[in-house]
Amino acid sequence: MTSHVLHRRLSGPPIPRAVSASGLIITDSDGREVIDASGGAAVSCLGHGHPRVVDAICRQAGKLAYAHNSFFTSEPAEELADLLVGHAPGNLATACFVAGGSEAMETALKLVRQYHLETGQPDRVHFIARRQSYHGNSLGALALSGNVARRAAYAPMLPRNFSHVSPADPVHGRLAGEDDAAMVARLAAELEAEFERVGPGRVAAFCAETVVGATAGALAAPAGYFAAIRRVCDRHGALLVLDEVMCGMGRTGTTHAWEQEAVTPDVQIVAKGLGGGYQPIGAVLAGARVAQAIANGSGSLMHGFTYMGHPLACAAALAVQRVIAEDRLLDNVGAMGSLLMRTLSDRFGGHPRVADIRGRGLLVAVELGIDGPGGVPFAPAAKVADRIKARAMELGLACYPGAGTIDGVNGDHVLLAPPYIAQADDIARIVERLGEAVDSVCREVVQL
Ligand code: PMP
Repeated sequence: MTSHVLHRRLSGPPIPRAVSASGLIITDSDGREVIDASGGAAVSCLGHGHPRVVDAICRQAGKLAYAHNSFFTSEPAEELADLLVGHAPGNLATACFVAGGSEAMETALKLVRQYHLETGQPDRVHFIARRQSYHGNSLGALALSGNVARRAAYAPMLPRNFSHVSPADPVHGRLAGEDDAAMVARLAAELEAEFERVGPGRVAAFCAETVVGATAGALAAPAGYFAAIRRVCDRHGALLVLDEVMCGMGRTGTTHAWEQEAVTPDVQIVAKGLGGGYQPIGAVLAGARVAQAIANGSGSLMHGFTYMGHPLACAAALAVQRVIAEDRLLDNVGAMGSLLMRTLSDRFGGHPRVADIRGRGLLVAVELGIDGPGGVPFAPAAKVADRIKARAMELGLACYPGAGTIDGVNGDHVLLAPPYIAQADDIARIVERLGEAVDSVCREVVQL
């Protein structure tokens, strides 16, 4: 049957049609079972069909699915905000619910702008981000993003008040003999210089993924980096915005990835693991300083989407977050994350085509390279990560591919982000199938 769904691929072989899912397994219309080892794009943090979440969604759908946020708030939205900011570490004070990560970043950019307007700093219109980053596909979020491939076609359409500094990449971006402290000092000095270049009182915020997801593959900054850039932002009166769309809500073992970095952001965005894929939802969380400025100023956010604070989406996210807390699943993220790293190291350690294995919690990447660690990446045209994704799907494994995009130094990688309910036998099966896919694609590509 011809499909009229506008998938990413309008020609070529059709992609499977998913018909049902339970736990880690998605079943397609041919009855084939695929292990969802990356939760799509690090979304499905509870796996599929979790009965307590399904039950909460059904109950809320029968009670109140939707009410426009300019007329009403709702019980699930209030309870979710209370759970996220009322009982959170740091000084988070307010939450705004949107439909996903890109909407969350657009909202964050406008919230930052409004903060500066409310506090009498209208010239702060410039945003600094990093070259190795992805913050969303809408034009504002894409302008902020450093992902070369995703920006390329739209570059002429992107607003100009965005600039990029070096990524905090200890795997590819370390100078010879540089330790963490020296690298952090160099990156902080570069950021300082960018603030100077843009001009005093002109930078609105510095934005970064706490752990880089899609662009670089589970890449954490060197120790002390975020504390150092927080000091630079403070010195220049700019806000710190952390993008935890992929790495947040427990994915790296703590609710917020910044808890492991000894900083608190002024504004943060979360999405994927917030609703675990049960409903489209993202959130902007803001600290007391920003919330207070808005409260003392115009009193409300100068921005809106039709589906903000969607009651059904909030009920789903609330149920997801309650299951994570009640079942103490972050303990399992820590345990299974360590097991995944060990199992990958056993399988791929010394592999001639594996350049690096890295990650935090259950956000883990395997980077490929022609000559193993320290070697050169595969040519982008070889599309190694895409081929591994395709081969893995044939073997019944869904894993998320990432092309090497940063200045030609980092290679293709494959991202694994199993749900927080994963068990040891799931980890074993995931690594076994990934191993088979990597071996067969690398053999093919090297012989080409
Ligand atoms: N920020 C980050 C760090 C992301 O990983 C993503 C999605 N991959 C986004 C923003 C955009 O989120 P969405 O696709 O839900 O719009």
